[in-house]
Parts: sequence; structure tokens; C-alpha cells
Amino acid sequence: VSGAYALGEWVRGPGEDLGVFRYHCGCEYRVTAPPAKEGALPYFEFDQDNFPICRATFALLASGRTKGVFQLESSLGRHWTKRLRPENADQIGALGAILRPGCLKAKSEDGVSMTERFCRRKNREEEAEAYHPALAPILSSTFQVITYQEQLMRMGKELAGFDLVEVDKLRKAVGKKDQQELAKVKTLFLAGCTRLGIVTDEQAATIWGWIEKSGRYLFNRSHSQSYGLLGYSTAYLKTHDPVSFFANWLYYAKDKSDPREEISELVADAKLLDQPVEPPDIRDLEERVSTDMVAVRFGLCDVREVGPSRVEKLRRAAEAAEAVLGRPLREWTWEEFLFHCGHETGHAATTGWIAVGAFRWTGKKRARLLNEYRAWAKLTEAERKWVLANCRPADGVTAALRAVGRPKKDGGGAANKNRVALLQGEVKFLEDPPASEADWPNQVAADEEHYLGVALTCSRVEACDLGEVNCTCKEFLAGRVGKLALGVRVCSVRVIKTKKGDKMAFLSVEDASCGMDDVCVFPEAWERYEGVLRVNNNVLLRGGKDPKKDSFVVDRVYQL
Ligand SMILES: [Zn+2]
Repeated sequence: VSGAYALGEWVRGPGEDLGVFRYHCGCEYRVTAPPAKEGALPYFEFDQDNFPICRATFALLASGRTKGVFQLESSLGRHWTKRLRPENADQIGALGAILRPGCLKAKSEDGVSMTERFCRRKNREEEAEAYHPALAPILSSTFQVITYQEQLMRMGKELAGFDLVEVDKLRKAVGKKDQQELAKVKTLFLAGCTRLGIVTDEQAATIWGWIEKSGRYLFNRSHSQSYGLLGYSTAYLKTHDPVSFFANWLYYAKDKSDPREEISELVADAKLLDQPVEPPDIRDLEERVSTDMVAVRFGLCDVREVGPSRVEKLRRAAEAAEAVLGRPLREWTWEEFLFHCGHETGHAATTGWIAVGAFRWTGKKRARLLNEYRAWAKLTEAERKWVLANCRPADGVTAALRAVGRPKKDGGGAANKNRVALLQGEVKFLEDPPASEADWPNQVAADEEHYLGVALTCSRVEACDLGEVNCTCKEFLAGRVGKLALGVRVCSVRVIKTKKGDKMAFLSVEDASCGMDDVCVFPEAWERYEGVLRVNNNVLLRGGKDPKKDSFVVDRVYQL
């Protein structure tokens, strides 16, 4: 099963009724038009203000595959979403609050961060016991961890009898850490608690201690909740309409602070979710990322150094040639394209398009296309016209160059001896190219990375000797256990210090199948292999699944 039908099925209705699309998670939508293409979703509308509660969406969040999910897409966000495993929009909202640096740094007496405390209690790894019965209802939605400013304000009101003005003073003083103001509010708070007598003076002092400390990380609940809803909406769309999701996110990747990183993360994530992402296709004449609702395809201007004017020129040349050939661009051969449009597209754009596979429909090797284009580009205007008048595209580029490269007196198109020598030199080159015209994975991947920002059709890892590899990233994520050997590229390295003060690292890696986070290198291995585990290095990782967690634990590393 592929495409939309991996997500659910279209249950056609009787007669004119197009029926419903029924997702495996239980979500259902009334279909308004049949799918645009085999394997695509039929048309229906999501109610964007009111997404249903859906187990598939929460499963996506719990898996930590939150690339593109509002507020949760950084590697920190992916890590903590997986750790928390949120079960409702409230908890997704709380993630926005507990992911903030203040909360991650704020430690309880036992050295555990407030973020970790929240996760442990939510997942019932420790008791969420209320310090005092009066605090229980105030902190119940956050497992008795002070998380929001609103909770602080309620504490002022209910324990110390503060009115709205005083409560606001409390919020401001704690947030700003103004020592003088804080001392004033503290006196008021303790006096209020004594007056109401709900908590003892000693308890009031303890609670004040937490309030003061919480100032460093509190966030407001209303804000968190609206973020949470937006986060849920994006996760829902990613789960239910991945093709539109990735098409849109890739389209706007250019606006991110690091577009290349964004593109490469999105593509790795799409691979993992079985969403095909393809290089541009010259025949589409699309400038930017687009989709036929089955695959997502890069556009011609997503290739480095190609601007819209280049595509516009090509469009006009193609229209003119379509009239001459009597067939649409989509039905042309490579030679027809080259003869009629090859001079309009410009050197930089054409070599870029060839290198990323925009001509893969021709079935020819990219290296061969490049050689033929470079030879063709040497023709003068007059020689090109001569070829169009005298040669058949079906005979091939080499034959056309051989014919035009003869002197005019012999019936050719070359104006002088120099032109004859140059063109016959090109013929020799095409007949017997000095370098192999195979498409080596290493070269294809490097070209795609250079021109598009990401390797789509293969990975540089594939060029390495992968004889020892017995598992892909995707297979590992799907649950493979045992002694494993992965052949991967290191994408990022995060080094941390353990409680004992030793260094260890978490890696993000990728191979042709997909990318994965949370590859764990414990101190002993890190000390040994730090030099090899560098970003962009291709390595063989021997190791296996951590029995307690989902992560891959590295035992040995070899340079590939
Ligand atoms: Zn659903």
C-alpha cells in the first residue's frame, strides 16, 4: 500500500455520492471530488479550526517525529515531545512552557530539572503529590509542578487573599526579579497567608521559596495553550495529509535562518514517513516546490543560482518549439530539447538541472547528458541553425556535431578550419569520453547537495564499502534488534557531561533510508571515537538498541 491508501481508504457511496475517506485512526471526511491522481487523497476539507482528537496524531508526537510541528520541531523539541508523550492539547501546550531554557535549568532539591520532573510525573514514573491540599487544584493540570503565571496568581489569591491588583504585582515582581519589589511582595504574601491561616507560616515560607524560584521560567498559560493548539493542528496535518504538509514546508524552507539544514531535515523526515520527494522535472516548468498530490517535487528555481527569468526564457523557447514539432514538451526526447531549447537555458542553469536529475525521464546518465550539453553549447548561432535545418534529433547529438563539423564546401556547417577542428574534437570526446560516464552515487549525492541543498536520489554513504552494513536507519527505527551495523553520515553531534563529569554525545545520523536522532555514544566510546564522529563524516556504527530506551547505542566506530 502506498500514498494516501497507506493512511486509510476511500469508501465510495452509492450513486452520485462520492462517499468518505476513512483514515485508519478513525478520522473520516466526506469526499467532494475524486483524487487528482492514482494514490492521492480524494478531495475533502479539513475544518481548520476544529481538528478532531486523533490517536495517530498523538502517536506521531510520542514518536518524536515533530519536524515541522509548531514549537516542537527543534532537536530539543523532538527529544522532549518523545519524553513527555503528550496525550491532550493541554499537555502539548505545557511542552511550550517546559521546553524554555529557564525551566530546563531550574532544578529541584534533588537536582532534577523542572522539565524532567514534569515528564516523570505525567508518565507516572513518580508520584505527583500535592505539597498541601490547597495547592492540589491549582497545580492539578501540571502534575503539581508550578508551570504557569496564572497558577502563581491563583496561589496569591487563594493562600494570601490577594486582590487582582496585588496578584498582578506579584506576577510582575517575580517575573522581573526586582529584589526590592520582591521583598515587599514577600512580606505581603507571608502576612496574607498568616491572616487566612490556610497554610502554616512555615509552609508559606516554603511555598514562597518555590514562587521566587519559578520566576525564572514561568510562562503564561493562555499563550501556551494557543501554541499547543497550533502545534496539534500542524501535527494533525502532517499525519493526515503528509504530501501537502511536506510540499508547503519545503516551499517555505527558503525563509528559514538556515534553509539548507531545514531542507535536509524535512527530506530526511519525509523519507521516514514514506513521503516521496523528487528532484525538479524540466517538463513541469515549475519554478518552485510543487506537488501532484502523490510526490513532492522541487522546482527549477530551487536549484542554486537559477532565477525565474531563466525559466521564463525556457518557457517561451519551449512554446515556440512545440509549435514547430507539433508535440508538447512532455513528449519530447532529450535531443529535441537540446536542439530547440539548449541555447536558451544558459550554462549555469542547465548544468545544475542536469546534475540534480531534472532530465532523468530521458533514461540517460547524468554524466552523459552533461557531456552532450557542453559539446552542444560550443555551437555558434549559425551552426545551430544549420543543425536544425539538416539533422534529425533521432540520430543523436554526436551525429549532428559530426555533420555540422565538416567544412561548408563538403556540405557541412563549419565556417573555417578552426571550427572544423574544434567540432571534430567534440565528436571524438563524445565517442570516447576520457572519464567514465557512470553516475557514481558519491558524485550524484554531492551534486544534489550542492545544487538543491540535499541528496534526494542517493546518499554519499552509498559510495562507501557497505559490505559490513546489516541494517538501515529505517529498519532500526522500525524495531530491529541484535548486533547491528549501520552505515551513516553524521549530521550533528551534541556533547554533554554526565553526572560524574565525563563527556558523552548524542548524534543525529542519516543514510539513504532516512535520518534518526538520539544515537547515543557513552563516555568510553566517545573518548575513543570522538575524532571520527565528526559532522559530515561517513562512518560504520556497530552497536544495538538500548534495552531501556529507543536509542541506538554505539559500541564501535569505523571510518567509511
Ligand atoms: Zn486521525
